Amino acid sequence: MSDLEIERECPGCGNDTFYLAASMLVHLGKKTKWHCTECDYGYIHITDDVETYANAEA
Ligand SMILES: [Zn+2]
Repeated sequence: MSDLEIERECPGCGNDTFYLAASMLVHLGKKTKWHCTECDYGYIHITDDVETYANAEA
């Protein structure tokens, strides 16, 4: 499994894979947008572990 995909059940179609559609740093932390691989359902997640992401991308 890559960092760009996560397992999560989609309430729209029952699919269990989401991919990272977009990400950006915001003052609250890191804002990521996840999208179902099978339908148009998507959601936004904001995390405060910016350092963890920075290290992973270094
Ligand atoms: Zn879906």
